[in-house]
Amino acid sequence: MVSHLFYQTGSKRPVLAEARGIYMWDVEGRRYLDGSSGAMVCNIGHSNPNVLAAMRRQMEKSTFGYRLHFETEPSEHLAAKVAAHAPAGLEKVFFVSGGSEAVESAIKIARQYATVTGQEKRWKVISRLPSYHGCTLGALALTGYAPLTEPFAPMYRDMPKIPAPTAYLDGMDPADPATGLHYANMLEEKILAEGPESVLAFIVEPVGGASTGALVPPSGYMERIRDICTQYGLLLIYDEVMTGGGRTGRFFATDHWNARPDIITFSKGFAAGYSPLGAMIVDEPIVDAVIKSGGFLHGFTYAGNPLACSAGVAVLEEIQRQDMVANATAMGTLLKARLTSLMDRYPFIGDVRGEGLLLAFELVADRGTMEPLPRDMNAYLRLVDIAYANGLIIYSRRTRNGLAGDHFLVCPPLIITKEQIDQIMEMLVLSLDQFAKENHLPIEQ
Ligand code: PMP
Repeated sequence: MVSHLFYQTGSKRPVLAEARGIYMWDVEGRRYLDGSSGAMVCNIGHSNPNVLAAMRRQMEKSTFGYRLHFETEPSEHLAAKVAAHAPAGLEKVFFVSGGSEAVESAIKIARQYATVTGQEKRWKVISRLPSYHGCTLGALALTGYAPLTEPFAPMYRDMPKIPAPTAYLDGMDPADPATGLHYANMLEEKILAEGPESVLAFIVEPVGGASTGALVPPSGYMERIRDICTQYGLLLIYDEVMTGGGRTGRFFATDHWNARPDIITFSKGFAAGYSPLGAMIVDEPIVDAVIKSGGFLHGFTYAGNPLACSAGVAVLEEIQRQDMVANATAMGTLLKARLTSLMDRYPFIGDVRGEGLLLAFELVADRGTMEPLPRDMNAYLRLVDIAYANGLIIYSRRTRNGLAGDHFLVCPPLIITKEQIDQIMEMLVLSLDQFAKENHLPIEQ
């Protein structure tokens, strides 16, 4: 049988017919509320007429102009728009077509910068466990998620990892600055163990994505990380592939802290599902040094094509026009409170966390010990299937390095309204009730 699916799927997925706003319909006419914006991608909702019109206009003019042959108006315009959202100094925008490409680009520009500035010995990139930075071999080396990395070892080069700041599992208070210091200092210890002269960069999802389930750094963590990177001469890379574009209630998550990175990677919410698009945004002196040495020895064929960039421009304009970043904060606060209130009804919800509309809940066997549900219950698959049947799409992963635990991301498009949050909650309660019954888990009435 001819197929483009290289996966074993659990329950058979329906065939998509159309999508509008926060809803999607299959060919049988069943409606789904897109409670995870696809894979945290469709931030502005589906079929936005202004974006479609802008793309149509661009399509009539040109869809491709090779980056070494032409400048294009959409790519120039988009680079300026993105840079305006980034922290001061981060002004150099390099286009790619997705998140993994953005991460590869960040590693390579960091490395080329080191080699052209007399720091040839620096090549190690420290990341966290768990983490997700992409599926290409370079990005995979930084990904701390055994089920995705182990089958490919030793094809990719293993890179040093430090534990993610999972205060909620370790019985520590995330609001206590001592907690932030405790986890951030693990970076310093790792740098010293590896030999500071050999370490190039540290990469971090500022608010965790699928890997940690919306893990928010404890108080003081990001600032201390920044200080450590500066002290030991590491470049600090924020992987904002998922957090960028307003998802956490700031255009870039970096704006939550006084801790500016040297490189930002960005993709999912950039063209928000209207086209493959990504970027890395780089501190000017890094790019200047690389250009002076002859230029960045890297680039993808489709990078910065005018059609993708026209989608990006239109998406950023819609985010601004509809004030979606503010809505992410307002609706995120509401949705998080509603999710947290579920803990009263379901003792098997161990944690609710996140920032803006990047939110997650984690299921456990025991909230006191945070022991995970039995592995063979496969909660991360089963609850998603039940929700699906009830018309709600959510996104799940096994947490704790993919070996145990189950978390669920609830990340609707940033255009969500209060009434639509009520719909999410109604379908979620129905689904959790069903899941509890099926698995003989308690419900508090
Ligand atoms: N980094 C992060 C933080 C991500 O969430 C993802 C995608 N889940 C990637 C990188 C890889 O992006 P892509 O799938 O577009 O290659």
